[in-house]
Amino acid sequence: MVLAIAGLDPSGGAGIQADIQTLSSIGCHCTPIISTLTVQDSSALHKVHPVSPEILDQQIATLNDEFNFSAIKLGALGSAENAKLIGHWIQVINKKQKKIPIILDPVIKASDGSALALGDHALRNALVNEVIPYCTLITPNEPELKILSSCDTHDAAIKQFTDLGVSVLTTGGHTKNIVKGTLENQLVIGSGEQEYWEVDTINGEFRGTGCTLSSAIVGFLANGFALNEAIEHAQRFVSNALEQAYTLRSGQQIPQRSNLSV
Ligand code: PLP
Repeated sequence: MVLAIAGLDPSGGAGIQADIQTLSSIGCHCTPIISTLTVQDSSALHKVHPVSPEILDQQIATLNDEFNFSAIKLGALGSAENAKLIGHWIQVINKKQKKIPIILDPVIKASDGSALALGDHALRNALVNEVIPYCTLITPNEPELKILSSCDTHDAAIKQFTDLGVSVLTTGGHTKNIVKGTLENQLVIGSGEQEYWEVDTINGEFRGTGCTLSSAIVGFLANGFALNEAIEHAQRFVSNALEQAYTLRSGQQIPQRSNLSV
């Protein structure tokens, strides 16, 4: 059972729907909690409406009373208040159970580049100080890494988090290497050890690829794979989902995450 806390994209392309579909394809039961509502269509984000910390608190407390989770996936958290509350809960859950994998996809902007959170700066601080230190892995793309870190260079930014014992998977999805047709994903684990994957790019504009990759990693970790194996399987899952993607009326394509064989 995987606890996913993320935003709702009513077009069904990203956010919690991507998490539920991905996790169920990988054979995990997802207990989904919505951190923020949005108004968006297949092309643009129009409005963000974080849920109240009170209801979030009750939902997490109620699930935690009844269940033990195999892993936790965090996506867009909506507001600094919600991020702080979730930081508190992941410490509680980590004490109750043996330390479980906790993955944060630090989504700050939507696929069209609009802000997915109220008070970006306060949210960034809450993520950096109150959520990331308790995570196993964060999966920022380069722009997200830049927003989160106070350091100037890529390596220093990663070290800021690996020094806390947090592994960092930087994803190259935002900078397609058109010439080679590949992108590079880099994992730096807490000890400083590194691994790289060159992934073939698939032509097109897709919604929810980051959500799909991070929830697939969580699913494979929950199924007992080691971190580097979980990342490899998750990258293959995303490639398959993009190869079979479908289009709504217009806008970005939707990765095919349901009933995808793994
Ligand atoms: N979460 C929500 C609720 C979103 O609406 C989006 C994108 O619009 C994302 C996450 C991030 O999507 P992507 O995986 O495309 O970065």
